[in-house]
Amino acid sequence: MESTKFNKTQWKQLKKELLREKRHIWPGLRKAEKEQAFSYASRYMVFLSSAKTERESADMIARRAVDAGFIPVDQAKKGSKRILWCYKGKVAALAVLGTTPLVDGVRLIASHIDAPRLDLKQNPLYEEMEMAYLKTHYYGGIKKFHWFSRPLALHGLAMKEDGRSVDITIGEAPDDPVLVINDLLPHLAYKVQADKKVSEAFPGEKLNVIFGGIPLNGPRDASDPVKLGILRLLHERYGLREEDLVSAELEVVPAGPARDVGLDRAFVGGYAQDDKACAYASFEAITGLNRPRHTCVALFMDKEEIGSDGNTGAKSRFFELLFFDMIRLAGERLEPDTLLRVLMASRAISADVTAGIDPDYREVHEKRNDARIGHGICLTKYTGSRGKYSANDAHAEYMGWLRGVWNNAGIKWQAGELGRVDEGGGGTVAKYLAGHGLDVVDAGPPLLGMHSPFEVAHKVDLYMTCLAYRAFYEGHNGVIS
Ligand code: MN
Ligand code: MN
Repeated sequence: MESTKFNKTQWKQLKKELLREKRHIWPGLRKAEKEQAFSYASRYMVFLSSAKTERESADMIARRAVDAGFIPVDQAKKGSKRILWCYKGKVAALAVLGTTPLVDGVRLIASHIDAPRLDLKQNPLYEEMEMAYLKTHYYGGIKKFHWFSRPLALHGLAMKEDGRSVDITIGEAPDDPVLVINDLLPHLAYKVQADKKVSEAFPGEKLNVIFGGIPLNGPRDASDPVKLGILRLLHERYGLREEDLVSAELEVVPAGPARDVGLDRAFVGGYAQDDKACAYASFEAITGLNRPRHTCVALFMDKEEIGSDGNTGAKSRFFELLFFDMIRLAGERLEPDTLLRVLMASRAISADVTAGIDPDYREVHEKRNDARIGHGICLTKYTGSRGKYSANDAHAEYMGWLRGVWNNAGIKWQAGELGRVDEGGGGTVAKYLAGHGLDVVDAGPPLLGMHSPFEVAHKVDLYMTCLAYRAFYEGHNGVIS
């Protein structure tokens, strides 16, 4: 039976030796690190503000990668060390070949560059009450009421039948018009909104975007004069006819740039931080590498928000093609089992955000196991719902290895999961990577207001995510400079 009585000093010593310290990272950072966290956030905000859609993100990653010395895979030769893939304009991947052979495994970070939004339908344009509107169909998990009565922008392209593409961005330049979905005035909303469940009060078919209001001056009995006026403008500016909208991908997103939040500017606020927070962090981490031991890969996937299906999602075979390309460019022998051996020796981070504890909604969080804002990148062993269903549950061996890497590099991290048991849940690309044989774990910064048009992240968590990804790539003892 334990009978020792511990004095104050011994108590303090025991706590220091045995307890895991949980505290906000900021006070412990050096002045230079604090400055770096803020300058990192500024660079991230430029990316967040200018690459809102998956196409814009893939395009910006590709352009900046070329500036950082990456060679497009179709121009790469045996011996090329920095390779860039851009697939269907919606997926990008970067690799820095290492000094060890690929069969020793690669270090892969997979994020996603799609985000919840409203897509235009294929027959979007119509006129009602002398106003032109666009019909939308939402993409990913949104709370529909977030999208009413706020400035919106239209991003995307229309394909002509001869293969020419027409880029369209409306609502971002300071003198651009913006779009809006009108909400109902409270005076008349008692029955159709206020008395209903939220899920029923805002039907998807009411997410119609106002797009014009000046009727053309035609014959007295002419129909749809506003719609025709809008089509005339679309033709003048973009050379489009109504049928071109069938082969268009036009996405309605919140208008305007990312902003600092808080008087002390602690936070970044902006659209699509799920998952640009991780995409940008992995981009800076991989472009900063010189000659790593293991080959390092950053994957920027599409379609995560709708289940990773489609040939640009994490389930697509683009993933395997990347590895075949790398094996070829590294000049390694390709036996029938080489691909599998490389995959099974590889380690990955599913780079995705998690939910930070929101003090106003403590009831959905479990305070001992959910991520705290300001406590660093969150390592999430499993996602899924109702008893880890559909989760990749990372192995203890892998968790142990990664925590060692991060501790050696001085990374501030926390371990948690998303919400209380049976409260809800979510998934990431982790399980699809794991299906290929890689060891995978989820890790990313906590967000507030995830999947809203204005998500919030702490700058210190964003910065620590980038450092953690870099340490994972370098993957052994040693402090990041
Ligand atoms: Mn995500
Ligand atoms: Mn998401």
